[in-house]
Amino acid sequence: MMYKLQRFELVENLRNKGITDELFLNAMLNVEREKYIPSGVRPHAYKDIALPIGYEQTISQPYTIAIMTEALKLKRNEKVLEIGTGSGYQAALLYEMGAKVYSIERNMDIYNEVLKRFEKLGIRVHCKCGDGTLGWDAYAPFDKIIVTAGSPGVPDALKRQLAVNGRMVIPVGNKSSQTLKVLSKTSPDEFEIEEIPQFAFVPLIGRDGWK
Ligand code: SAM
Repeated sequence: MMYKLQRFELVENLRNKGITDELFLNAMLNVEREKYIPSGVRPHAYKDIALPIGYEQTISQPYTIAIMTEALKLKRNEKVLEIGTGSGYQAALLYEMGAKVYSIERNMDIYNEVLKRFEKLGIRVHCKCGDGTLGWDAYAPFDKIIVTAGSPGVPDALKRQLAVNGRMVIPVGNKSSQTLKVLSKTSPDEFEIEEIPQFAFVPLIGRDGWK
């Protein structure tokens, strides 16, 4: 309750920066970012900045989350795969938007923490600890895929596991800066790709990511 006004102001700020997806903006009004971050950084919960969540990882900047989620063009009841569960905030937003969410985190400590958090907050996301560059074959195909760490390329498994007419958002580049690639799958082996420049994510580490 304490942060309701700040949350409202952050959403207005995102609107002013050009975000228009009402399903997303509404979810942002309902998901409490302060519950996904360590107590030490909680006073900054509603600044439009990335924040540390421990283990050298971050919760992404709200504007970046907004750009990525808007690019997904998510609809209620769609099946979404997220790579990089981290704090769980992005997954909670997708869940609040009415998606069926599957999320993979490679770091066991982060994974154990987020499982407890989801349990406590009643967020029903299917979670797995493992290398997200391999995707999650058992539940493929996915209508949408969102990768929340920077990758040297688009992993083949993720391309394969995306449904035809599906969309994937993934930061691709070197370790210090990336372009956000938005892939639309037009046939089983064809994609249209749009690019949004200048992002900086922590690295995606795995077989088809950074070693
Ligand atoms: N979506 C997160 C959130 O809302 O807090 C942001 C996560 S952070 C920017 C990126 C996460 O990706 C880190 O937790 C990191 O451990 C994880 N990661 C890196 N490589 C991965 C991989 N191959 N598979 C799954 N998770 C990975």
